[in-house]
Amino acid sequence: MFSGKSEEMIRRLRRAEIAGQRVLLFKPRIDDRYDAADVVSHAGVRMSAVPVDGCAELIARARGCEVVGIDEVQFFEETVVEAALALADGGVRVIAAGLDQDFRRLPFGPMPELLARAEFVDKLQAVCHRCGGPATTTQRLVDGKPALYSGDTIVVGALDAYEARCRDCHEAGADAQAVAAAA
Ligand code: ZN
Repeated sequence: MFSGKSEEMIRRLRRAEIAGQRVLLFKPRIDDRYDAADVVSHAGVRMSAVPVDGCAELIARARGCEVVGIDEVQFFEETVVEAALALADGGVRVIAAGLDQDFRRLPFGPMPELLARAEFVDKLQAVCHRCGGPATTTQRLVDGKPALYSGDTIVVGALDAYEARCRDCHEAGADAQAVAAAA
């Protein structure tokens, strides 16, 4: 989050458009934080996107594309990996952007499999909200305090606040140790 990943993906998709390739950007319908039909980066860079309910719709609507972008790919079901591989096997260049870890710093949804199967991976870093160092984690705050470990992973558009944090500044929820002990 805040690492510029959507912006970087849009930059690559725009270059493909300039090269005359047929490009489509998809995003999960769950994510309507900024705009129902556009992908908008935190820095305000935008590109029109096709919201889809799942992988079947993504595959169907990607027909005829040469380059496919997938934003917020961590919100898709696990089958998004097979979908991306099927597109790639069919000659489509697939560029996906997503968060590799959830707010607990655990691997996010389909991301581990996707990272393992991808040919190229760029891991971007944000700037830590606390110390200004390179940030690789997402801090979820509820009423200014670290969100409970047992909270839902996906709370799009909720009043919770998110901050980019480095490893040292990331704070676990008050119940983190109790949850870990019970696991
Ligand atoms: Zn920090």
